[in-house]
This record gives sequence, C-alpha cells and structure tokens, in this order.
Amino acid sequence: MPIRPQYRWLYPIDWPQLSAMIRFERAKGRCECRGECGATPHDADAGGRCTAVHDQPHPLTGSNVVLTTAHRDHTPENVDPANLRAYCNRCHLSHDAKEHRRNASHTRAMRAAGDAPPLFPEPPRGTPS
Ligand SMILES: [Zn+2]
Ligand SMILES: [Zn+2]
Repeated sequence: MPIRPQYRWLYPIDWPQLSAMIRFERAKGRCECRGECGATPHDADAGGRCTAVHDQPHPLTGSNVVLTTAHRDHTPENVDPANLRAYCNRCHLSHDAKEHRRNASHTRAMRAAGDAPPLFPEPPRGTPS
C-alpha cells in the first residue's frame, strides 16, 4: 500500500532505501528487538534478542517473517537511525500495540503491505509524556 498522499510529508523521500538499509544492512535481515517490544518470550540464549530472520519461519509463530522498520518513539518523521529498529511482524505489532488500538488502519496497512511505514490518521502527538 502506498503512503497516503496527505501523510507523505512525514517521510523522507528515500524512506524505502532507508528502511531497507536498516533492515538488511544494519540488521542483516534479523529482528533487532531485544525484548523492548514487550512481547514474550524472547530468546534468552541469544541475549534476549528476538531470533526471527527475514523470509524464514518465525521461531515462535512459524509464519513467514517479514522484517519491518519501526520508529521506537512512534514519531514517523524521526528517521534518525537510532530511532529506527528492524522488527519482525510479531515484535512490530507488539511494539505498536498502543498505536494500533488508536489507529486500526495501520494494522491493515501493515498486513496488506508486509512492510509499510507507520501511518497515522492525525499529526504526531504534541504532548510529550
Ligand atoms: Zn522480533
Ligand atoms: Zn520483540
């Protein structure tokens, strides 16, 4: 699913390249989550890191892993690599659970596209917690 035009400004024009760089160059196709997504369990033998690998069966769910790029602070315009994480489907969904409850279209977009930057129906939150 393409980025909806009205939200296009939230993303750098090279988002697809940036996302691919994070997922396949930095993360080497492996989920970068170390448990911060909140889902359990993560593999203690791997230092707590999720052991999901792109295009391989997920170690826990058995479904094919599609790595996605998540914004740790849920702020789509914050594309600092330190704010980006390559997450497997499971970790990304867990990571974004609060956002998903607020924005079901994100979930649909993720499922439809396999990899889509987060879409938000409204401008990023203006009140930092
Ligand atoms: Zn994962
Ligand atoms: Zn995780």
